[in-house]
Amino acid sequence: MIHFDNSYARLPDGFFARVDPTPVTKPVLLALNEGLAGRLGLDAAWLSGPEGTAMLAGNAMPDSAEPIAQAYAGHQFGGFVPQLGDGRAVLLGEVVAPDGARFDIQLKGSGKTPFSRRGDGRAWIGPVLREYVVSEFMSAMGVPTTRALAAVATGETVWREDGFPGAVLTRVASSHIRVGTFQYFAVRGNESALGALTDHVIERHYPQATGPLSLLDHIVARQAETIAQWMALGFIHGVMNTDNMAISGETIDYGPCAFMDAYHPDTVFSSIDHAGRYAWAQQPQVAVWNLAQLATCLIPLMGQRDAAIEAATKSVHGFAPLYQAAWCRRFGEKLGLTEAAPVQELAEELLTLMARDRADFTRVFAGLSDGTARDEFKDPSAFDDWALRWQEHDPDPALMAHANPRRIPRNHRVEQAIQAAVKDDLQPFRLLFDAVTHPREVRQEWDHLANAPLASEAVRQTFCG
Ligand code: AMP
Ligand code: MG
Ligand code: MG
Repeated sequence: MIHFDNSYARLPDGFFARVDPTPVTKPVLLALNEGLAGRLGLDAAWLSGPEGTAMLAGNAMPDSAEPIAQAYAGHQFGGFVPQLGDGRAVLLGEVVAPDGARFDIQLKGSGKTPFSRRGDGRAWIGPVLREYVVSEFMSAMGVPTTRALAAVATGETVWREDGFPGAVLTRVASSHIRVGTFQYFAVRGNESALGALTDHVIERHYPQATGPLSLLDHIVARQAETIAQWMALGFIHGVMNTDNMAISGETIDYGPCAFMDAYHPDTVFSSIDHAGRYAWAQQPQVAVWNLAQLATCLIPLMGQRDAAIEAATKSVHGFAPLYQAAWCRRFGEKLGLTEAAPVQELAEELLTLMARDRADFTRVFAGLSDGTARDEFKDPSAFDDWALRWQEHDPDPALMAHANPRRIPRNHRVEQAIQAAVKDDLQPFRLLFDAVTHPREVRQEWDHLANAPLASEAVRQTFCG
């Protein structure tokens, strides 16, 4: 059984459209995240049984569910779209976990909604399994993120560049409220809705915030931490539009995201990011740009306009020092350094050497503790010089082992797992999932997943799905 509360659906009418998921022909449970089910206080046996699977497919709704598609706007690659909204997702409701934490339970790929525009409302198993494995890896590494509870095959074909098996992902988030949710009401000049949204967000995510300006400060701080964690894992979100930036600070929308293999700061994977707007090194600046859009929405709630603009600007400018501190903390841990002073210079020097040799991001850092990092360089002597200076600071192996994953969901492995799943073989997906959700553990059967791709295996482009 499952019981939903529906605090978002109790907000005023314009916040959402009521819409049921569209039933699918032949639901088959592909994956159920039992660990997450336990954390939510849900019964995994019920979820994987006929009633649970029917719900996860969108074929049957529990009485307490109040399915809605949420309204939002957003800047897509810098261009403003006043209405986006959940075009292929439906929020079933919220589950309150045994510890009192509230989580959205959302089906993604569950059919058309009033916000679908020209889309089919569906997803295929490629993006569904990609989000499942990548978001759960992020969670295992302690990165704030939405999570994946289940993946269900629909038995239907989804048409993209070809026909693919359809699937529905059950996404769990502390909420799905985005910068774009604020923009939706701001562009309509709807101050009472903005006020109601602000109150809802403060109560739900930032109870310590004393008002809209204080809320902005808290969101800025949360984002600075999250983005620093992305950078420390070589993660490239790929589509940091304002509708894909969660107010909670959780990483959301695993579309064309990918982790770098060979390190270069300008790396981009997304097939539609021609200008490199969302390249790895751009992410902190883009976050600031997005937060400035949020600030613009909140200014009308902050009283006298000139003073509000000044205060909001200052709040957004607070990102840089917070991010810098978080970056140094994260890269300090990666280098095993307990003192802060040498971190920035040592980390930047190492990254410069890595970029020059296109060294593998994950393997270099993982290899610092066992002496194999030098093998990742075409010119190990430059690395050796660096390592001598680094070792003077007595790096702590335990700190490094915790901060540096041995295995990440490498793009080529994710692609191979998807290719196999399309042919009904879920073994590679399951192996990859286990390996990257225990990213620090040593186990022989996972060794090969720590390897960088051969030139012939490397995947250089990703798609929104
Ligand atoms: P995204 O690029 O994933 O952030 O999606 C941008 C917008 O397009 C959101 O409003 C989505 O709900 C919508 N969208 C994406 N794919 C589909 C689809 N297959 N059907 C309907 N709407 C979609
Ligand atoms: Mg999105
Ligand atoms: Mg997406």
